[in-house]
Amino acid sequence: MANSKYEYVKSFEVEDEVMFPNLIVVRIGGRDFCRFSEFHEFEKPNDERALNLMNSCAAAVLEEYPDIVFSYGFSDEYSFIFKRTSKFYQRRASKMMSLIVSFFTSTYVIKWKDFFPQKKLRYPPSFHARVISCATLEVLQAYLAWRQNDCHIYNQYNTCFWMLVKCGKAEKEAQEILQGTKKQERNELLFQQFGINYRKLPDMFRQGSCVFKTEVEVIVKYSENGTPIKRLRRKPTVVHSENISGRRFWNGHSSLLN
Ligand code: ATP
Ligand code: ATP
Ligand code: MG
Ligand code: MG
Ligand code: MG
Repeated sequence: MANSKYEYVKSFEVEDEVMFPNLIVVRIGGRDFCRFSEFHEFEKPNDERALNLMNSCAAAVLEEYPDIVFSYGFSDEYSFIFKRTSKFYQRRASKMMSLIVSFFTSTYVIKWKDFFPQKKLRYPPSFHARVISCATLEVLQAYLAWRQNDCHIYNQYNTCFWMLVKCGKAEKEAQEILQGTKKQERNELLFQQFGINYRKLPDMFRQGSCVFKTEVEVIVKYSENGTPIKRLRRKPTVVHSENISGRRFWNGHSSLLN
């Protein structure tokens, strides 16, 4: 109750405001998704349905919280970037990340059946979250470069690993073959042993996914004679792009960070 003699304990709450002008990023990630993906028989190395489910949850987050201007994800993780001037929950890190991660998680559970109509969700998935405070745009760019580089490295490694396993190697054996190999060697292994040109794999697997709002035509209503009436609306859109930290990408989307 307000103004009770117990209220002093409120002052013991951890203060965690991310100061302006730092840019706020919230990253969520699946907890123990190695197990979750096995349990739910995800296709390896990339289950497209699971990735589309993640993208759809990210789009729902952007619809729910207009202060988020950009997001990037791959595998079981997603990073959400708030606009520079955001005052969302007084910029308190714990409020922001708990809202995003719980909304993302409940959306994941609700949407599961749309992406896996034949597969029952067998236990409640959980996601962890953290806040990254980027002092400058350059730091944000380095952050995005880091996440996209991890996407690339994991995807390339996992593609090799699962090709070896599918061709009869034991998991331990496949691990040993790949140990210490460099990017170039892994590309060669894919091409020479399996005829796979890494660059030809789907963009979503190699580059991850961006979700941000773009103007799209939507039908708002129908006129009396049944003609659809369309208007431009800002809607979350999924985009795959080679270098999301590069000048070229941000020149095309500079309005996102105003
Ligand atoms: P932690 O709790 O530390 O995050 P984790 O088991 O989730 O542990 P990660 O490093 O996050 O470990 O790895 C995610 C796991 O989920 C990987 O094993 C990855 O292959 C699997 N995974 C996630 N998304 C997919 C997908 N779309 N298709 C196939 N496997 C996936
Ligand atoms: P905030 O986002 O700041 O938490 P809030 O709307 O959740 O805002 P609270 O002070 O947390 O505000 O109040 C919770 C609200 O939910 C109250 O209006 C309360 O009456 C309602 N509520 C919660 N649980 C129940 C319940 N079991 N039965 C009826 N009403 C409930
Ligand atoms: Mg994980
Ligand atoms: Mg992960
Ligand atoms: Mg409440």
